[in-house]
Amino acid sequence: MGVTKVLLASPRGFCAGVEMAIKALASLLGAFGPPVYCYHEIVHNKIVVRRFEEMGVIFVDDISEVPPGSPVMLSAHGSAPEVQKAANDLGSYVVDSVCPLVTKVHHEVKVRSGKGYRIVYVGHEGHEEAVGTMAVAPESIHRVESPEDVEALPDFDEPVALLAQTTLGHRDWTDVAAAARERFPEIWTPGRSDLCFATTNRQAALEAIAERCETFVIVGSENSSNTVALEKLAKRMGCERVLRINGPGELPNDLSGTVGLTAGASAPEELVNDVLREIAPEEGAEEVRVTDEEEYFPPPRQLRDLLKIVTGFATVTLGAEPPVDLSADRRVAASAVLRRFCDSPLRMSNGDRQDVGAAPAIPASS
Ligand code: SF4
Repeated sequence: MGVTKVLLASPRGFCAGVEMAIKALASLLGAFGPPVYCYHEIVHNKIVVRRFEEMGVIFVDDISEVPPGSPVMLSAHGSAPEVQKAANDLGSYVVDSVCPLVTKVHHEVKVRSGKGYRIVYVGHEGHEEAVGTMAVAPESIHRVESPEDVEALPDFDEPVALLAQTTLGHRDWTDVAAAARERFPEIWTPGRSDLCFATTNRQAALEAIAERCETFVIVGSENSSNTVALEKLAKRMGCERVLRINGPGELPNDLSGTVGLTAGASAPEELVNDVLREIAPEEGAEEVRVTDEEEYFPPPRQLRDLLKIVTGFATVTLGAEPPVDLSADRRVAASAVLRRFCDSPLRMSNGDRQDVGAAPAIPASS
C-alpha cells in the first residue's frame, strides 16, 4: 500500500451509550455466568457480538426464545413495551441497557401521543431503534424518511409533533424536518433535536477532514445507522473513494495518498488500531479532534440493584470481594472489558482503562 498519511477523525468509535451497554452485558454475564440471553444485538457490531457469543451470550430476535428464568438483557437500541413485558413475564432477571437518549425519545412519544398529537417520526424502516420507538404509540406515529414521505402524509386534524431516530445523518434530518415544518407550520419539536451528541460529533469530525482525503475508510457494520450516516456524509463531501469495512481484512491493497479514518459509535477502537496498522501510512497518522466527549452513562438501574444485592451478600455473608467495582465503572473502557473479560470475569480494575493494542504514532492533533 502506498498511503502517505492517515487523518484520524476524533471523536470516533464507542459512544457513552455503547460503552454502558457493553459493560452492562459483561457484568450480567459475570454475575450469573453463561448462558445469558440478549434480545437483539447488544450493539450493531459483528465483532462485539461474536466476542459476547464466545463468552456465552445467546442473542435472540424473539423474546419467546429465552428459557423462563434465564437472565436477559435488552439491547441499547430500545425495546418495544410488549417486549419488555414479555421479558418480565418470563420470571427472568431483566436488565434493559437502552441508551438514555433513546429513552428520552420514547418518553416524548408517550407524552405527545397522550396529549392527542399525531407524531411524524423520522427513522429508518426496520431499524431496531425505530421499531422499538414506534411501538410506544403505534396508533399515533407516522414514520417518514424523505421529504416525499412527508408530502404523502394525510392532513391531520390533531396537533402534530416531529421526533427522530437518534442516529440519523444530519442532512437526512434537516431535509425532512424542513419539509415537515413547511407542511405543518405549527408542528411541535423538542427544544433540542433527537439526534444524539455522538452521532453529531462523529459527523462533524469527518467533515473537518474529508476534503483533505482521497479515500475515507469507515469502520463499522452495515446495520449500524450512524455508521451508514458517516458513509453517506463522506460521499456527499466529495471523497473520491469511501469504504465501509468491518475490519482490516476488508481493506483493499491499492490505497494511496491521504486516507481519512473513522469508526461508527459501535465499533471498538481496537479495530481502528488494527486498520491503521494495516494501512501503515508512510508519514504516520494525524488525529484531528473537533471536540472532547465527556459523556458517561451509568449502568442500568436493574444492574445497579442486582450488584448492590450481590455485593452486600458477598461482603457481609461471605467476606468476599464484590463482583464488580461500580465506583470504577466510569474509568473502565468497554474495549478493555471485551478483551479481558474472559480472563478475569469477576473483576474490572482501574488499570483496564486503556486502548487495546498500540497504534502507529499519532504525531499531531488539531
Ligand atoms: S449512538 Fe447516540 S443514541 Fe445510540 S447508543 Fe450512542 S449515544 Fe446512545
